[in-house]
Amino acid sequence: MSWNYAQPVTIRFGNGRIAELVKEINALGGSKGILITSPSFEKSGLIQKIVSDSQPLIKAVYSNVNPNPDITECEGCIALIREHQCDFVVALGGGSVLDCAKAAALMATADLPVSAYMDNASLLPAKGLPLIAVPTTAGTGSEISSVSVLSDHTKKVKKPLATPAFFPTLAIIDPELTLTVPPHITACTGMDVLCHALEAFWSRQHQPICDSFAINAIRLVMQNLKTVYDEPNNLPARERMAEASLLAGLAFTVPRTNCSHACSYPLTNDLGIPHGEACAITIDYFMRINAQADDGRLRMLAGMLGYGSASELADAITQLKKDIGIMPDLKTFNLTDGQIEGLVQNSQNPILKLNPVEITPAMLREMYNQMR
Ligand code: NAD
Repeated sequence: MSWNYAQPVTIRFGNGRIAELVKEINALGGSKGILITSPSFEKSGLIQKIVSDSQPLIKAVYSNVNPNPDITECEGCIALIREHQCDFVVALGGGSVLDCAKAAALMATADLPVSAYMDNASLLPAKGLPLIAVPTTAGTGSEISSVSVLSDHTKKVKKPLATPAFFPTLAIIDPELTLTVPPHITACTGMDVLCHALEAFWSRQHQPICDSFAINAIRLVMQNLKTVYDEPNNLPARERMAEASLLAGLAFTVPRTNCSHACSYPLTNDLGIPHGEACAITIDYFMRINAQADDGRLRMLAGMLGYGSASELADAITQLKKDIGIMPDLKTFNLTDGQIEGLVQNSQNPILKLNPVEITPAMLREMYNQMR
């Protein structure tokens, strides 16, 4: 066995720890910052509280990041960073906000437009502005990952960009911030956690440290996701899901995601399905395919989680999806043959090659046809 592991992000985890933000900004030596966030926190008053608590450190607020952030939103953040000569960035929100802020914090340090990096990620600068990432969903793990997923909606492209320079400086994970996430978003983001952990575990690039994170993340999701869906104010269960999200993020950063994430990009781009749900639609299908060629790892995983076989674990995931209102198939879209072909073509992202079983276009076509 030969493998590497590095994780450069400092992590603060616990209820109420958003209160430590100003102390952490001072520790970074930041003096002129931007807060990047989404409209829902304008309504909740959290933006106003953060800006007033951190006076005079935060000079600008960009509060218009939407799900599946577009490169124009990223350009908007970069323009504000330059206008106010910011020397640090705070990102408060779900994965969409964190990804947009990670990209802006890095790309603001160089002159190319965001679209140039979408076309060629090797042009990304080597070092960006210091970034404090505060996740408000239990989902993406973006606060500790080296990935930023951006969309160019005019070109109908959604792409993960990866570079070590995207790692935030610090992640403050405060599970209380997830109490306001509505049930369907809780379900979608929670399934994203499960997909990160499962895909990391079976990735061709799996390795033992990430395996440990993945196994624990899967266990936590299977034990707590239905609870947070049914009882949004259950703080202990929200804490466990925040922990699962972090562990799953740590689990996939080295092995990378693969089958379900590759398919999620066209499912979101072409059909508008939210990210976590787009991943969840195919995860149990791929688990059954991977179980057929299992070298014993999936059987071991199922056993450690208390299931008799990988197929029993796949059945439990199918049931969980049903329990939390995740769409089971694509019937509602009445897909044409042309749309199915588009999904097949656009699911062939390079990460698909990390799935342990080779997924051919014919297999994708069969899967999408079964789901239509
Ligand atoms: P999101 O950030 O798109 O947020 C979904 C919705 O929830 C938004 O309307 C948002 O405003 C709202 N919301 C967020 N937090 C809330 C809260 N506490 N209370 C009420 N509403 C809240 O959803 P997400 O699933 O966290 O992020 C998805 C994005 O992250 C996708 O673009 C996906 O591709 C990307 N992603 C990135 C990584 C990575 O490593 N960078 C990993 C997985 C996914």
